[in-house]
Amino acid sequence: MQCRLCGGVAVSFTTRDAEYDECVDCGYIGIEHGRIPEPSAEEARYRLHRNSFDDPVYRAWIDQYLDVAAPYIAPGGSVLDFGSGPEPVPARMMSERGFRMCIHDPFFAPGDSWRSREWDAILVHEVAEHLSLPGEIMAMLAGLLVPGGALCIRTRFPPADRKAFDRWAYRMDSTHVGFFPERCLGLLAARLGLEPALLESPDRAVLLKPRGHGMAFKQGKEPDILKR
Ligand SMILES: [Zn+2]
Repeated sequence: MQCRLCGGVAVSFTTRDAEYDECVDCGYIGIEHGRIPEPSAEEARYRLHRNSFDDPVYRAWIDQYLDVAAPYIAPGGSVLDFGSGPEPVPARMMSERGFRMCIHDPFFAPGDSWRSREWDAILVHEVAEHLSLPGEIMAMLAGLLVPGGALCIRTRFPPADRKAFDRWAYRMDSTHVGFFPERCLGLLAARLGLEPALLESPDRAVLLKPRGHGMAFKQGKEPDILKR
């Protein structure tokens, strides 16, 4: 099998109820292709999510992530909440923190205008595990960051032990189709030309786009505009 994240070779293993492919190169664990839900089934499942802005427990859980990720984003910066879901609570909470938020969701906030501009940060909060084409999507998102921009990912790192993985509650959600070990996110950053500024169990990552980019910087020459 081919890894859906990096294109490397993936080797199958079975759990009690499904088959997964683990990438030999990057460690990404993807569910067997036939278990990826159809978009209509996926949307129906998301509509069952009850994530309310008024639920203090849910808000506290989001704050846990925003507290560590927000310092990597320019104050007042423009942030895309990618895969914002039926209730864009993280976007509202980021807005309260002074960021200029836009949301996108293929089911609940469709549209393409977000693709034609660059962002100070892109929030991928509990979304990466739902992606059927994670390699393609992550590369596209990385391409939309300004230099210094942050790709802020929250997704639960899978247990390395096979028995623990078998009974791992996070994989029981039928829309969770792929999992990123910590090492996998580090390698993903390298492949996308990003720097892993934060990689922290159980579920936190911030990948930064370097500020200096392009051949002029790499060769130690200043771009003409800086010489004046
Ligand atoms: Zn891979």
